[in-house]
Amino acid sequence: MINNTIDILSYTKKELKALFQEIGEPAYRANQLFSWLHLKRVTTYDEMSNLPEKMRRWLRENAIFERPAVLRKQISKDGTEKYLLGFSDGNAVETVAMEYEHGVSLCISTQVGCRMGCAFCASTVNGLVRSLTASEMLMEVYESERQKGKKIDSVVLMGIGEPLDNLDAVVRFYEQITDEQGYGMKNRSVTVSTCGIAPKIYELADMHKQLTLSLSLHSAFSDKRSRIMPVNLKYPLPEVLEACKYYVNETGRRITFEYTVIHGTNDMDEDVNELVRIAGMMQSHVNVIPVNSAGRGNFSATRKDAEVFASKLNARGVNATVRRTLGEDISAACGQLRRETQQL
Ligand code: SF4
Repeated sequence: MINNTIDILSYTKKELKALFQEIGEPAYRANQLFSWLHLKRVTTYDEMSNLPEKMRRWLRENAIFERPAVLRKQISKDGTEKYLLGFSDGNAVETVAMEYEHGVSLCISTQVGCRMGCAFCASTVNGLVRSLTASEMLMEVYESERQKGKKIDSVVLMGIGEPLDNLDAVVRFYEQITDEQGYGMKNRSVTVSTCGIAPKIYELADMHKQLTLSLSLHSAFSDKRSRIMPVNLKYPLPEVLEACKYYVNETGRRITFEYTVIHGTNDMDEDVNELVRIAGMMQSHVNVIPVNSAGRGNFSATRKDAEVFASKLNARGVNATVRRTLGEDISAACGQLRRETQQL
């Protein structure tokens, strides 16, 4: 349908061709437009010099193409950059660009707020406001690239929000960002991180995408996990792990278990034993991180705590690494900048 709310950035090439057919324009114009949007990544229709003025006018009148405003930008001494990106409805999300040896990795948000209620997370304090569209997620990448002045090599959907609570838009984002005639990100360079919505893991598995799925585990015991992650009451850990096994079998991709060490809470020997058992259930890798004490709740852990925990896992044959903690001097805990700025 043609009206003034066409979300042009989220349109696939196929959809653009269908749209152009509808308005009586040749299909090759759709490829040209796609290239301006996703390969050259211009910010205005005026820059699309090989499109006739008549078509650019039509696009201006009928299709939304909005660049987010950079409301705040923080730069860490380790090179990590954090942006608070504002949309035209007044909502804002955080995006963090981190530099690794293998390139720039971007952590993007998938929702404004979150309804999952994890005890250690600042993003969930006021619940879910709304989900982001695929184009808003794409804009997080494209605007971050402009701010950073470097191509983004990988994306983790681990910022504000639960990606599988917004699955359709997330899959659309994935299709667009990995399109070889657009941004061309490698399939495996997109990581979707979930707190464990079992039915959505099955749904994603059945799509047979080659993205990386990461489960925020944080405790290997279901009852302990329920205390820090209420989603576990709805989808208990054994059910989520079955879904993860199904995902591995269907996609041939290993699962990443994210494990935030909270000293004295989930880093005892019994936790190690149970995590060893879980990691042995399927092809997996454990990413260990010390909890960010700038988040919510009275939780703490040092890098040393995380290293000790990972080394105990390694000694038992589990593939575990401690993730580098970046941007510690710029309030990089998820949701914190948004809360500070929007006084939530
Ligand atoms: S950790 Fe993720 S899933 Fe949990 S409340 Fe925060 S944003 Fe939501």
